[in-house]
Parts: sequence; structure tokens; C-alpha cells
Amino acid sequence: MPRLLIVGPQGSGKGTQGVRVADALAIPIVSTGDVFRANVKDGTELGLKVKAIIDAGDLVPDELTSAIVRDRLEQVDAAGGFLLDGYPRNVGQVGDLDGFLSGRGEQLTGVLELSVPRAVSIERLSLRASEQGRADDTEEAIAKRLSLYESETAPILDVYRERGIVDAIDGVGSLDEIAQRISAALAARGIPG
Ligand code: AMP
Repeated sequence: MPRLLIVGPQGSGKGTQGVRVADALAIPIVSTGDVFRANVKDGTELGLKVKAIIDAGDLVPDELTSAIVRDRLEQVDAAGGFLLDGYPRNVGQVGDLDGFLSGRGEQLTGVLELSVPRAVSIERLSLRASEQGRADDTEEAIAKRLSLYESETAPILDVYRERGIVDAIDGVGSLDEIAQRISAALAARGIPG
């Protein structure tokens, strides 16, 4: 059963590629960023709590984020596997996720690390800012998110590398080329099995 995580700096294309992987494997994609954005848009209690944090490019507190993911993974459609996008984002969240999954006798089976040079990330994010008008795609918030990625998120890859479950994917190229690299890496791990 594929229990996957896709990781990469903002602008690496992980959202786009994540959707493709999830579709191909018929597993739900669990994106904390999407959950937060939907709540902000709908003006829910959660949305009101996290809006300022997200707009500034900061991280939502671990406790809140991990509780949301736990609830989501307990839903029936995630029983046959899932693809996490944007969570875990720091080493504390890795611990939260490990605790939750090990309680079910499970663990992550694969981590896709999408890498792109910083200049490419910035270029793609600026393009998205003009196309989609995301409130957190200001120059300042982008810089904050990229530096948080390096300081907080990149270290989670060391943890997963030690477990031998990380595949590094070159994130520069056409959408199809990158998707091809991802499916080759998954196939080498016997996914889909
Ligand atoms: P994303 O779409 O993954 O770039 O997420 C957008 C924003 O949501 C981030 O900049 C954070 O403010 C918040 N967010 C998403 N996932 C997490 C997470 N795992 N931990 C904390 N904050 C998160």
C-alpha cells in the first residue's frame, strides 16, 4: 500500500506532480496547504486562526497541523494509501506522523524529493503570483518560505534518508519528463505493487 510523501521547496512543482501521482495510484492527496487555504476562503474558525500566519509565510503550529492530518488520515478513503503534500514540514511533525502511523502498525513507504535550483523556484512562484494572486506569493513571503524550507524542512530528509526511503527527483524539465522520473523511481520500489 503506497504511503507516500512529496517534498520540495515552494515552486518545485510538487503540487502539480503530486496530483498526477495520486491520480495514477488512485490514492487521495493530503495537502495541508490546500486544507488551510480552503478554510481561509470559507472563513471557518480554523481559517481565521491561520490566515495571518499563512499570509506572512510562517508555519502554522505543529499541534494544530498534526491534528488536522490525523483526522484526514483516519478517513476511510486513506485506508488504501495516501500521498502527503506539505506535511511533515519539520522534524517535530515527522515525530507526530511517526507516532500516529506506528499506532496503526504503519510507516511511510516512500518519499519523493523534488529538487530545483532556488532561481527556478523564485521564477515559478513569481509567475504563479501573477496568475493566481495567492496572498502568500508576495516577494517577502516567498523569501520567508524558501528560507524556512532550508532551515526546517530540508532536515526531515536526513531522517527519511537514514530509513532508505527517499528518491531524489530532478524537478527541472517538462511536466511529462518529471512525471516520468517519478514513476520510474516508484516502480523501482515496486509501486504500484
Ligand atoms: P503550501 O501550499 O504547502 O506551500 O502551504 C501554504 C502555507 O500553509 C505554508 O506557507 C504554511 O503557512 C501553511 N502550512 C502548510 N503545511 C504546513 C505544515 N505542515 N506545517 C505548518 N504550516 C503549514
